[in-house]
Amino acid sequence: MVFDMNFDGKTVIITGGSKGIGKAMAKKFSEYGANVVVADLDEEKGKKLASEIDGVFIGCDVSEKEQVDELVDKTVEKFGSLDVIVNNAGIGSMSTIEDMSHEEWKNIISVDLDGVMYGCKAAAPHLKKSEGCILNIASIYGLVGDVGATAYNAAKGGVVNLTRSVADDLAQYNVRVNSICPGFVRTPMTEEALGDDEFKSYVESMTPLGRVAEPEEIAEVAVFISSDKASYVTGVNLPVDGGWTSH
Ligand code: NAD
Repeated sequence: MVFDMNFDGKTVIITGGSKGIGKAMAKKFSEYGANVVVADLDEEKGKKLASEIDGVFIGCDVSEKEQVDELVDKTVEKFGSLDVIVNNAGIGSMSTIEDMSHEEWKNIISVDLDGVMYGCKAAAPHLKKSEGCILNIASIYGLVGDVGATAYNAAKGGVVNLTRSVADDLAQYNVRVNSICPGFVRTPMTEEALGDDEFKSYVESMTPLGRVAEPEEIAEVAVFISSDKASYVTGVNLPVDGGWTSH
């Protein structure tokens, strides 16, 4: 058997692909030959990236089910099939249970958890045809808790177990479903927090490798786990976290 990381002729949707980890993944999948669909709220940055990687930008708010359905339909219309969906779009929050407003809870859950489920559901019929795969971007905060991350911890914990559940549902069709659980990564999402020296030191002290990750270090693993090289990997929530969850 020959296993490779070639994505020639394959179509990959990356939600939240305009910036940060999504952008790095869009570039990496493109390097490996994929037709990449960058799906995001940020049209300006998404269109610029899509033109650089010979991909396509489709505007989409993942918290709106109809928009996610439309994203998948338009992709299949354009490229004829769908091989991989990376449910990456997400937003952060930093509130304890006491500080958190009801609105914040609803907002985080609708983007970080509902949005992932909408992506899985819309893509499933097409992935059954292509024997493709789903990659969700969860977080170490889906595996462990921390102070001031109530809604985010809950949403990402939901993504972790959703990943297992959807993997079980779709295994009979040879559709693999996994998540990556990154530790802290240098992106627009974390720029402000990591600009605070005390917080940065906390993150480094919690990370056995002693540093935050670059987005490309997540993208390399994303391409591997979505490729034929990982053909027996499903239902896995893989920490890519410099060791954060090892202690
Ligand atoms: P980022 O803020 O740098 O980029 C996120 C992208 O998602 C942006 O382009 C934004 O426009 C888009 N987006 C936000 N809400 C959206 C919506 N409703 N619909 C469509 N697009 C939307 O974030 P990032 O750091 O690259 O994070 C990407 C994913 O990785 C998120 O799910 C995040 O929770 C997760 N993650 C990040 C870190 C980290 O340290 N950066 C760690 C663990 C997990």
